[in-house]
Order: sequence, then C-alpha cells, then structure tokens
Amino acid sequence: MRVYLDNASTTPLDTEVIAAMEPFLKTHFGNPSSIHSHGRESRSAIEKARKVIAELLNVSPSEIFFTSGGTEADNSVICGIVHSLGVKNVISSRIEHHAVLHTLDHISSQGLANIHYVNLDEKGHIDYGHLAELLNQNPNSLVTLMHANNEIGNISDLEYIGNLCKESDSYFHSDTVQTVGHYVHNLQLLNLHSMVGSAHKFHGPKGIGFMYIRGGLKIDPYIHGGSQERNMRGGTENVYGIVGLAKALEICYRDMNKHRSHIENLKTLLISKLDGQLDGVSYNGDSANLEKSNYKVLNVCLPESPENEMLLFNLDIGGVSASGGSACTSGSNLGSHVLKAIGADPERGAVRFSFSRFNTEDEILFAAERLSELYVTSQE
Ligand code: PLP
Repeated sequence: MRVYLDNASTTPLDTEVIAAMEPFLKTHFGNPSSIHSHGRESRSAIEKARKVIAELLNVSPSEIFFTSGGTEADNSVICGIVHSLGVKNVISSRIEHHAVLHTLDHISSQGLANIHYVNLDEKGHIDYGHLAELLNQNPNSLVTLMHANNEIGNISDLEYIGNLCKESDSYFHSDTVQTVGHYVHNLQLLNLHSMVGSAHKFHGPKGIGFMYIRGGLKIDPYIHGGSQERNMRGGTENVYGIVGLAKALEICYRDMNKHRSHIENLKTLLISKLDGQLDGVSYNGDSANLEKSNYKVLNVCLPESPENEMLLFNLDIGGVSASGGSACTSGSNLGSHVLKAIGADPERGAVRFSFSRFNTEDEILFAAERLSELYVTSQE
C-alpha cells in the first residue's frame, strides 16, 4: 500500500477537473488576446471561470485576477499595496508562509516599510490584544495574516482581524491558500482588501492561482507586459489552468459539507489511533483542536528518539508520504520556521499529515501503524 497524506503540499487532480480542462489542452488553443474565433473561444472560457470564482466568493468578477499561484499572488498584492498606497508599516506574524515572509524581508531590506511581528500565544494563535496595540501605534498599516497555517493548521479569525483593521484605517491581506476550497469565504461579510488562492491545493492543476483585490484599490502590477488581466498581470493566460481552477473550486463548494465531514472523521481517527498506540505523542500548535485548526492538517509531535532523524525517510520506505513542517521548504535542511516560532521542542520529531477527500479510513489506520511501529522498534 502507498498512502498519500501530504495534501497541504499539493493534491491530486480531480477527474472532473481533467475533463473540463481537456478541450483546452487538445483543441481550444487560441490566444485569448486574439480577436478571431479561436481567440474568442479561449477568452470566453477565462471570463466564465472568473465569473464562477467571483460568485463563489461573493465578489465582482472585476475583483479577481489570475496568477501563476499563491506565491505570485502574495508577492503581487503585498508589494502592490506597499508601493502604490504609501503604506509605511506592515504587521504580520513569524509563522506566515515564506511567500509572505520573504516578500516582507525584501520590502524591509529596500527600506520601503517597517515590519512588525505580532506575538503568538503558547498554541501559536495570534495574540489579538497585541495586534490591537500594534494597530493603535501604527494606523494606516498593511496587516498580512494567513487564514490557516500550512504546517500546524491553526485558524485565524478573519472577521475579528478585519474589524480591528477597519478601526485603524488599515489594509488587510490574508494568505488564504490553505483554506480556499475547504472553507466558505463570503467576502461581503469580511473587511478584507485582498486574498489569494492556489488551485493545486484543492484538486486543481499546479501553476495557476488567483488574487482577489477589492474594487477601488488602485495598485500597480507586479508583472509588467501585455494588457492581460486588465493591465494587472502581463503574460498570455494559462487558459486550461484557469478552466481547471474554476472547475475545482466549483466542485469543492458543491460538495464541501460532505468532504469536510469525511476528512474530519479521518483526522479524529488518526488522533485516536496515535493517542492509543504511541506513548508520549502530542500535537504541535492547535492542530488536534477541530474547532481551531484546519480540518485537513494534523501536526504530530513525537517523543524524543534517535528515530526522529530519519522519520520522514522511514515513513516513506514504509509506504506513507507525509512531510515535516512545510513541504514547500523540503529539500532545504533548515528546520521549520513555524515550529521554531511557536517554541516547539527541537528534540522532538514532527510530522505533518494532511488529508483529502480521496483518503480512506484504511489508509489512516495504515499510516498510524507505520508511524507507531517506528517508535516501538526504536524503544526495544
Ligand atoms: N501560502 C501558503 C499558506 C501555502 O501553503 C503555499 C504553498 O504551500 C503558498 C502560499 C504558495 O502557493 P503556490 O504553491 O501556489 O505558489
């Protein structure tokens, strides 16, 4: 058996998504900027996709812009707001994805704005009192805080943060890459100026994402070139990606309750099996709390053991694909910046399991056994 439990890193394509993309891979190849019928066919598919996404998020299609994914979207929005809107202070947290943190490092190194980091509590949640203080001291800031953390799954309260931002006339951007397609975002109910999504995190294709930018916010493009995306992002559009993105999101919204309860059951099952089979196991951040964490992520904190060195390797040999911290940084031997920022014990191993609607209970039982037997073996 080979089990894939790394869905926060990327997800398999849904066959309905492949079917929707197929004509645009095979026959509908026109450049959407061309005015002939081949071009118009592609243009029409893009605008249809934009409308689908806008309706699901309850915004206007003119507020959706396609990008190559979450990283580009975060870079574009954050740099755009700082460059174009005269923002001199940015408030964020140390557990954001590198798509945000490294963008902020760049902004800081260029002297474009001061970066302030909000304190986190012992579970890795935002200290909202400190956020309010920072906003009091720095009105007219940009706040960039993610919805759900990709490593520990902790969920932030977008409504509450949005209201704090409103009181201090600040802009609010959220990296929603881990929650788009898995939670409903009704943007009419949130004081959010921008958010981003990435199709490969919800069974769509890789290399395509979007940014929502609230109407009326005039920010400069990040990628200069042709007049695509209403002058906000130069470059010929990834038509089949855009079609696949919209289809994937449509499916997620159509079946969200069913997917959610299936995945929540898998997460609960894994927690109960590990609690029963593995002495000294606990969970990083608040990932075992179903109310306060993303239902598709469980970050397991393992006992001190020589086994921790080769943990992911041995799980892989045993047939389980999972990751340690963020998969986006795998390949680098720097530890997880998230676990470090929340003060996790470096001597204890960490493995992030992340689930999808395609996982089964048998796969969860298999993974729990493979992980537990590694530790039993090393203690014997
Ligand atoms: N933001 C978060 C929270 C993520 O988890 C990821 C990918 O893991 C990204 C941004 C980057 O998205 P993409 O892979 O589409 O560039």
